[in-house]
Amino acid sequence: MNFSRRGFLAAGAVAAAGSAAAQNISLADEPKVKSKAELKLCSQLNVIPGRDLKEKLAKMENWGFDAVEVHGDAVGDVKKYIDALKNFKLPVSAICWGSHKGDLVSKDPSRRNAGAEALRRALEAAGELGAIGVVFVPAFNKEMELDNREIRKILVDALPAIGEHAVKHNTHVIMEPLNRNEAFFLRQVADAASIARDCKSPGIAVMGDFYHMFIEEPSDMGAFISGGPLVRHVHLASRKRVLPGQDERQFVDGFRGLKWIGYRDYCSFECGVSGNHDTEIPKSLEFLRQQWALA
Ligand code: MG
Repeated sequence: MNFSRRGFLAAGAVAAAGSAAAQNISLADEPKVKSKAELKLCSQLNVIPGRDLKEKLAKMENWGFDAVEVHGDAVGDVKKYIDALKNFKLPVSAICWGSHKGDLVSKDPSRRNAGAEALRRALEAAGELGAIGVVFVPAFNKEMELDNREIRKILVDALPAIGEHAVKHNTHVIMEPLNRNEAFFLRQVADAASIARDCKSPGIAVMGDFYHMFIEEPSDMGAFISGGPLVRHVHLASRKRVLPGQDERQFVDGFRGLKWIGYRDYCSFECGVSGNHDTEIPKSLEFLRQQWALA
């Protein structure tokens, strides 16, 4: 066994995470897993300038994006996106869906059923679009009717069946941790991963959002390692929630974590833009590629 300082630190990080990654990735695997990792850049559509969907997709392809993230309006209007995307090489990474008013974790069982049904419809749309998953927030602060332990139990009871529905449609529920000002129930990647592991369904996954992670995670690298193979999506934003590179927020540590877990899914802009979109977005893509190279 190689007891180099770097290897020792990395092994410590995995042990500290106590995660699925720790079970699945041994120290000896590090170079092999890292070599699989790939930075694939994506954006939510509202970040991209353009008069219509076609113009936005054309700009994205031209700028070298690898995929597009759509919003919840795609559920029930899948054809609009499938038709538009026929002329481009961009796949759909995910549907950014949200909490559906916190229905799935409401204290009212009929609302919980409605929330589960709505999430199932979103997963069907994600399946049709070929998306990796549906980004799901259990409840924003103002929607929480129950305490953390009660919400966690509801999720672990409800999500396995929904996860099986996701598997049937070749997609995932992707739980998104947010910062405490928005959703104190789910704040860290490790929290989400712990819930996902308890669900014991391959259809339940997690993600990290660099904006929220800056507030909640002591280590970006540790956060992604704690999610391990459960991490299936990433949101990109700076500390001030503008484009990466537009303030002091660094991505190298987080990218080290993504390399460690052999991440090959998408990193997607969910942010504002300071200045001119047409000049700032390509600059941000270049900044991120440099940060990846440094990681
Ligand atoms: Mg996000």
